[in-house]
Amino acid sequence: MAKLKTFIPNQAGAGELRVAMVPLAAKRLAATGIELLVESRAGLAAGYDDDAYRNVGAQVVGNDGWGTADMVLVAAPPSIEQVVQMRGGAALAGLLAPHRNLQLIEALARQGVSAMSLEYLPRITRAQAMDALSSQANLAGYKAVILAAERCTKIFPLLMTAAGTLRPAEVFVIGAGVAGLQAIATARRLGAVVRAYDVRPAVKEQVQSVGAKFLELPLEIAGAQTAGGYARELTPEQQGRQRALVADAVAASDVVITTAAVPGKPAPKLIAAEAVARMQPGSVIVDLAAEAGGNCQLTEPGQTVVKHSVTIIGIMNVAATVPSHASQVYANNLANLLKLLVAADGSLKIDTTDEVIAAVLLCHGGQIVHPTLKELVTHA
Ligand code: NAD
Repeated sequence: MAKLKTFIPNQAGAGELRVAMVPLAAKRLAATGIELLVESRAGLAAGYDDDAYRNVGAQVVGNDGWGTADMVLVAAPPSIEQVVQMRGGAALAGLLAPHRNLQLIEALARQGVSAMSLEYLPRITRAQAMDALSSQANLAGYKAVILAAERCTKIFPLLMTAAGTLRPAEVFVIGAGVAGLQAIATARRLGAVVRAYDVRPAVKEQVQSVGAKFLELPLEIAGAQTAGGYARELTPEQQGRQRALVADAVAASDVVITTAAVPGKPAPKLIAAEAVARMQPGSVIVDLAAEAGGNCQLTEPGQTVVKHSVTIIGIMNVAATVPSHASQVYANNLANLLKLLVAADGSLKIDTTDEVIAAVLLCHGGQIVHPTLKELVTHA
């Protein structure tokens, strides 16, 4: 039986520390109709050397895998130079940040590649095991708290000693989705007092269940949640009112972790410069929305800056700072997607009638097929 040649590139050159397949998940794949080609040193930054892949039956190859594979799995968007090496009719899957990479999507379509991006995965029960946004956001929420604790000039827990009592740090989490809930749970484990706010009132109970107080704001927003469970984008007036209302909570906090996002849109600006100026010197803001521009007006994406004596961390691709675990869960997400893509005879199967495949497919048969992207490319 023919096997689906699946290539795992080394993306360290692009600054990516994660790898799209780890040996444990690769071992399970070996039992299916998949032949795994792993570029040399692809897993090294995540803690997996070439021998670890050889031991589970994968072949370690050079970067020629781009041109020979039926399927390429990536941890980060590839370059256009890599895409033009791909065979027409081959497939590519991963987190491709399609809204920010329109030229790449056009190149994939021109090349005749069937490209799939997990950002568009529908949030249905069957797709949960493939949900890479959630698996990575979970780790980002944890790491945000660790980064904040490291930079904060106070410790998180209550400490009663002969030398006096230290009050627990006040942590405020804005946006209580996957990353926000993990940030709350992690900050609580470190002993902080945590408050959280989200525009979707539906999350109040989840916030309380992980030990935080839900901040109620006198801001009625009808239909704040879409049918898919995401937040809607607020009008500039609503965002302005929100900024004014969260300012007191920001000013009273030692640490603010912001995760507020609306898929495909710039991050809502929820923290004004004036609110930062009101924080205590030595406080910290970790802006997990930095990739989409940031939730704080003073965030500089990709940088850590100190403004008004407050450290503002605009780190991007946070999950990649814990590359071993991030790759482990990401590889499982992709392995679960692969199961839908291998036909019984080992060939590549792109079933556009499958709800999951139809949702994640960006281009297929030489065309951009995703409606949102088609629109964006037309108006670019
Ligand atoms: P996200 O990363 O898109 O956004 C993070 C959070 O920011 C969300 O909770 C959102 O409501 C909030 N937000 C957006 N604009 C805001 C604003 N102006 N002010 C305050 N908060 C704002 O979201 P996410 O973490 O991917 O998750 C969204 C929801 O989907 C969550 O409830 C999550 O539990 C759910 N989910 C469901 C599934 C499933 O398969 N059923 C899978 C994953 C997540």
